[in-house]
Amino acid sequence: MVEALLRVRELVKHFPAAGDWFAQIFDRRVVRAVDGVSFEIERGTTLGLVGESGSGKTTTGRVIVRLVEPTRGEVVFDGIDLLKLKGKALKAMRKRIQMIFQDPASSLNPRKTVGQIVAEPLRVHGMVKGRDLERKLVRTLELAGLSGRFLNRYPHELSGGQRQRVGIARALAVRPEFIVCDEPVTALDVSIQAQILNLLMDLQEELSLTYLFIAHDLSVVKHVSDRVAVMYLGKIVEIGDVNTIFGSPKHPYTQALLAAVPRPDPKAPPRKVLRGEVPSPIDPPPGCRFHPRCENFLGDICKEEEPRLLRVEGGVMVACHLYGRGSSSQRAPEEKAQGKPNPPEAPPFL
Ligand code: SF4
Repeated sequence: MVEALLRVRELVKHFPAAGDWFAQIFDRRVVRAVDGVSFEIERGTTLGLVGESGSGKTTTGRVIVRLVEPTRGEVVFDGIDLLKLKGKALKAMRKRIQMIFQDPASSLNPRKTVGQIVAEPLRVHGMVKGRDLERKLVRTLELAGLSGRFLNRYPHELSGGQRQRVGIARALAVRPEFIVCDEPVTALDVSIQAQILNLLMDLQEELSLTYLFIAHDLSVVKHVSDRVAVMYLGKIVEIGDVNTIFGSPKHPYTQALLAAVPRPDPKAPPRKVLRGEVPSPIDPPPGCRFHPRCENFLGDICKEEEPRLLRVEGGVMVACHLYGRGSSSQRAPEEKAQGKPNPPEAPPFL
């Protein structure tokens, strides 16, 4: 059995709904960006985290790297509780966990050269000095697919793809074990996206990296992930092996996301479009948060009772009353038709 490098349990991040402290005195409401998320990532594998804008994917990634402090929950990395680390211990851990940001243009300091940008984490961690530094910088740029001649260039002199390679080189400089990739190809042209994705996959093999890959493009997630977690309004609604989820999605939201993916076939039936907008995370719907948009809505149970993540056929975990325990009315229509028993209750964690 492969060991889990990262374990996230019941992670919660609520932001004050009001902007400044004065407004917060009168408005105590909170934005429930992440609301009880649990998953594991095995060493050397990729977990794809997908969902619409506002589902809480990026906040989850930022909490894991401690760019944002969580409201509560547990993040255990290689047996160490990340959220309890402070001072030197936290700084040492930052060498092992890095992040690649979505927008390479805004995540690189325009006043610094590529060499200074990639050297920054090495300098902060006191890892290399003098002549060794230049050798290390060239080697790191080469890993990211750039040559040493880029060392003295500024970000504005680079193309979008080259800038993202600098972002990747900066993350690789301290030789991390785990990288949160936050929509790393979203801001790039389609032709460049494939190059960056293949680079990330090659680096994973060469350096035994583990990734949390955040994206809203399902085809990108399918290409790079071993397992996939689907988020909706701060919660994971389905998680499991990539082939099982893409081949036989169980949750109505996952089904709707996949049905909306364009197919290069003129004879393909028209795409299904998910109705309505994502509700406000300040005041999410009671019961199942997806119920106002769900085509399989079961009535009161969906409005009143929050579905738990349960393991179903194929080892996938789904949070939906179609697959719940309870009465036969809670089971999937095709299961009821075949007289199948309810799926067993899942263990408390994956
Ligand atoms: Fe739809 Fe009900 Fe399942 Fe929610 S719990 S996804 S509303 S069927």
